Amino acid sequence: MEHVFDVIIVGAGPGGSSMAAFLSRSGVSTLLLDKACFPRDKVCGDGLTPKAIYWLDFLGCVNEVLNQSNSYCTQGDIFVNGEHVLTGKFPQNTSYPGFSVFLERRKLDHILVRNAISSGALFRPGSRVKKLQWAHNGILVEVESDNTHVCYKGKLVIGADGANSIVSRAIGNKILNGTTAVSVRGYYKGVDVDRSQIQLYFNERFFPGYGWVFVDNDGKANIGIGYAFDKNFPVKKKLRKVFHDFVSRDLKKILKHAEAIGIPKAGWTSFYKPRSMVASRVMLIGDAANLADPVNGGGIHSAIESAHLAAQVAMQAIAFGDFSSGFLCRYESLWNERTEMDWRTGELLLSIAKNPNLREVYISLIKAVAKMIKENPRFEQFLGGIFSGVMPARKCICPFSLLDVTPLDPRIWLSALVSSPNPKPLALLEQAVSAMQNTLKTTVRIVSNPMVNLYWGLEILSKTLGLVGCYANHEMVSSVNVITRGWTRSLETTKAL
Ligand SMILES: Cc1cc2nc3c(=O)[nH]c(=O)nc-3n(C[C@H](O)[C@H](O)[C@H](O)COP(=O)(O)OP(=O)(O)OC[C@H]3O[C@@H](n4cnc5c(N)ncnc54)[C@H](O)[C@@H]3O)c2cc1C
Repeated sequence: MEHVFDVIIVGAGPGGSSMAAFLSRSGVSTLLLDKACFPRDKVCGDGLTPKAIYWLDFLGCVNEVLNQSNSYCTQGDIFVNGEHVLTGKFPQNTSYPGFSVFLERRKLDHILVRNAISSGALFRPGSRVKKLQWAHNGILVEVESDNTHVCYKGKLVIGADGANSIVSRAIGNKILNGTTAVSVRGYYKGVDVDRSQIQLYFNERFFPGYGWVFVDNDGKANIGIGYAFDKNFPVKKKLRKVFHDFVSRDLKKILKHAEAIGIPKAGWTSFYKPRSMVASRVMLIGDAANLADPVNGGGIHSAIESAHLAAQVAMQAIAFGDFSSGFLCRYESLWNERTEMDWRTGELLLSIAKNPNLREVYISLIKAVAKMIKENPRFEQFLGGIFSGVMPARKCICPFSLLDVTPLDPRIWLSALVSSPNPKPLALLEQAVSAMQNTLKTTVRIVSNPMVNLYWGLEILSKTLGLVGCYANHEMVSSVNVITRGWTRSLETTKAL
């Protein structure tokens, strides 16, 4: 008799392996497929954010990850146009750990695959999925393995196959159809630092994007550069050249005695919502559904979190024998309930930042904000929390949260705008002239490309309105919940009396 798996998972990255572990532990027959043989490399910053550490703990893998990592960071250094402007700390006392570590994906993903296997999943490495075919009681998954074609059947298929997902395409989504970040990443050894560090570099030369240096206690670094683009703002620069330029100019000092390991590789992550995260007998998780955080680009935590939610819905679908898109869309609703406001806020910020015509404005803004943070620890906690992902991004648009943390002392605002604490009149004049020059440059760029910038303006407007609508709806629902809970409690008290 034909063997039918309950669930076939395509892709054994953090999303696929976690989902395989969650399902297998509950006795669901699970087949995990990956085109690669493990351990394998994956282009990534290798940074495990506090949220990722939280989810690895939930999965039961955090001890092994921390044991294999040779880093521990509670702060990060920010550089703007080559100048160090800030050392910002990760917020402490939140529901997430107050630190971050790095672990090469070759090691991390291998830990997670082993965890899936020991939980009971059947793993088939070296199996490239070529095609999905919907049959009356399942999906046929056609696989190429060792130059032979194999076919597996599953009641449900999970697309966990990353940014270029074949499963996502099979259900009608388009790849590279919105805001995306393309990156180049390389490894170096012998980096001149005395302990593990996070360094982030913002520079007019490669904005809208940033460079990163994640270096461990042995001086081994993951160095990369990421750049946001979409069809209206295509990447015009040769990213590998920008990367080499970044390494040789901005990192000259710390890489003086360093040596490159291998050749830098390119990768991408998209941040727009796909047309659908589910279809009949299919759910998408992690990068296959573009779920990475638009604020910091991290997607390991969301791959595991989405796997957890999808596993719950998969088990319900198996119990009810209902694999229709109508049933599976519970997963999309659950995900949206948890993240929609934060995702919309982050995506709006990224959409604002992706316009390269405004790069000087943004760079000045980052500099000014860094200065304000230095003067105000509450503001530092707030922005550090948003950027590291431990604080919901929606707080950026909540007037009460903003009022609570924004410095009210006008001297702090003034010092953020001027270049030195006690500026001389001539220096002030120079600054004013430079600001005017930048405004002129920006205006010329905007006017010389009116349609693209108009379209961008409309995009920002529609996203802002969408976010405001979502915020109002969310606030209304929470207020109604609070009122109903209050009523219920007072009714219960009255009854008890
Ligand atoms: C340059 C860069 C830097 C990043 N830095 C960070 C960071 O520091 N921290 C962070 O949290 N996130 C980072 N991210 C994002 C992070 O890498 C992803 O969000 C995360 O890997 C998503 O996990 P996933 O399991 O969904 O997909 P992936 O990790 O991409 O795994 C997909 C798996 O599917 C397999 N696969 C693909 N196609 C097929 C097929 N046809 N058949 C079978 N198998 C297939 C692949 O081999 C792969 O193993 C970065 C991304 C990039 C591009």
